[in-house]
This record gives sequence, structure tokens and C-alpha cells, in this order.
Amino acid sequence: MRVLVTGGAGYIGSHALRALLRAGHSPVAYDNLSRGHRAAVPKDVPLIEADIRDTDVLTAALKDNGIDCVMHFAAFAYVGESVELPLLYYNNNSRGTLSVLEAIDRARTPRLVFSSTCATYGNPPQNPIVETTVQRPINPYGMSKLVSEYMISDYAASRSDFSYAALRYFNVAGSSFDGEIGEDHDPETHLIPVILQAALGRREKVTVFGDDYPTPDGTCIRDYIHVEDLVSAHVRVMEALKPSDRRIYNLGIGRGHSVREIIDAARRVTGVDFKVEIGPRRAGDPASLYSDPSRIHEELGWRAQHTDIEETIRSAYQWFSKNPNGYGDAR
Ligand code: UDP
Repeated sequence: MRVLVTGGAGYIGSHALRALLRAGHSPVAYDNLSRGHRAAVPKDVPLIEADIRDTDVLTAALKDNGIDCVMHFAAFAYVGESVELPLLYYNNNSRGTLSVLEAIDRARTPRLVFSSTCATYGNPPQNPIVETTVQRPINPYGMSKLVSEYMISDYAASRSDFSYAALRYFNVAGSSFDGEIGEDHDPETHLIPVILQAALGRREKVTVFGDDYPTPDGTCIRDYIHVEDLVSAHVRVMEALKPSDRRIYNLGIGRGHSVREIIDAARRVTGVDFKVEIGPRRAGDPASLYSDPSRIHEELGWRAQHTDIEETIRSAYQWFSKNPNGYGDAR
């Protein structure tokens, strides 16, 4: 299939491009390079440098390339930033998705695979989280994605020749096993990269955002899925989409790790006893989130393969140690 990958120069999008190539598909990357990196896009994949909110350019990209499916990754994804700059998130994530849908409508593109998030569940009434768990986000990031899910669902109801999947990611981590691409955010706020920067001496310490949560060790629990598993699920789901399908899947490993457990695992992987301090809670953080990933397994036979947290951290460490400046200045 010919696949337009919005956010193709980003962390997950760039891994998706490679997974699509490996599976014999023809991806086209679409990215405004505001947070993505040109160097993350494989040389043989065309990159359209434009904003998803530019609906005319996006429509032309879909029409000119005969696109069969949009994988829509382009978004901002920092919970803390979304609390400080909510309008930035509604603009880029929700308005951006509206523009993607308008372009899809104009071009009559038949398929969409959308990056949603476990942040749409907010503080869930129970863990593990199933797809029917109530969605009540507690931060603007989660809400900007939930609004997008609603728009997509309403649009899908108006078109019988359209199918979509909303994939609700838990915490995505790790890097491609060939060591070619990885995670490069500026500023970096995600836990595993922050820890690895501390292990590599690139930051003084790791601050644990609260140790008074109602969890066994007091720190937040998350479900860390390897990025290679995540993108392989996208390819599988896209290939399974039949006209007028509406599929919603959690993408996680089905197990939670606390912040302390991640720190301990990173100490074992790196052999470095980096400095850790306990700080206050971060606004917008739920105590515990982990998935029940059984729906995608039951319906498509897919499940995550890389479920050992040390393996996930090791693959990220390989990238960070070889690329201390990320992609450097190659924007
Ligand atoms: N976290 C932390 N210190 C950091 C970064 C993150 O204690 O420097 C915690 C954060 O409070 C959350 C977990 O690690 O409980 C994962 O946070 P991250 O930002 O990686 O992903 P999120 O869950 O917000 O999508």
C-alpha cells in the first residue's frame, strides 16, 4: 500500500517508515520538521516538508501519491507541556487531526491509522485498562487526542468506504535494533531517555516526580512498549482494515513498571549509579496505567515480542551512547 506517514521524521513515525518498507509497502513521509529530524527519514523515502494544518498541501500529497492509507503520528506528546500550553496541544493535535480528516475527505482516502494514547483514559477506575474503560483525560494532551478520536469516529460514520483504527499507545520506549535511529527530543522529558542521559553524564540527576502515589513503592506505574513492537502493530492493523472497519486497540505489553523499577533496571543495564532525587508530583500524571492488550491479540493474533524492560532500555541505551547529540544539527 502507499502510505502517507505524518510525523514521519519523528521518533515513532521514523520507525514506522522502516517497518512499512520491510513489509513491502511504499511510505511517503510528511513532516514540518518542527520537532522531527530529516536524518531520521530513510534516503529512499520521499519527505514532504509541510504542516498537517496546511490542508491544501496535505490534500495534494494524498492525491498526487495515490495514498491508500494515512498513518497519522504528527502530534505533540508531552503531558507537562500540555498543562502549561494547552492551546498549543489543541491546535497541533486536535486542529491538526481535523485538517487530516478534511484532506482525507477531499482526496477520498480509504484508510486511517491514528496514534491515540492511554492518556485518554485519565485516572482509570481500574487496571489493567481495556478499550471499553471510560475515557476521562486529566491533562490537555489526553483531551486533545480524545477530541481527535471523536472527530474520526464521527467522520467515519458519514462514509461507508472509509476504515480506521485508533491505537491507544501506552509508554513507547526503545530504539531500532539496528541502531540506526532512535529518540531525539529537545527538551527531553520522557523517563527512560532522561535516565539514560543521567547515566551518560549528560544531566546531573534524575528527579522522580512524586513517591507518594497509591502504588506499592509510591512511584507512578506505566506500561512500556518497545517502539519496534508498536510500529509492527501499525502495519498489521493497516493490512487488516476492511472497508467501513472501525478498530480500537490498546498497544502495551500488559504489565506495569514503576519509576523506581525503571531506574533500577537502567542501573543494571548501564552499570552506572547515577544520582536520583525525589521531587514533587508533576501536574497531570495519573498514578497507574497499564494495558490489557488482549483485544488485538484475539482479533489479529498480534502481541508485543519485546517485553523484557531491560532489553527495551538496552536498545535505547545503544542509541543514546552512540548518538550523544541525537541527530545533531541535521534538521
Ligand atoms: N517521570 C519522572 N521523572 C522524569 C520523567 C518522568 O519521575 O524526569 C515519571 C512521570 O511522572 C511518569 C513516568 O515517569 O509517571 C513516565 O513519564 P513520561 O514523561 O516518560 O511519559 P508519560 O507517562 O507522561 O507519557
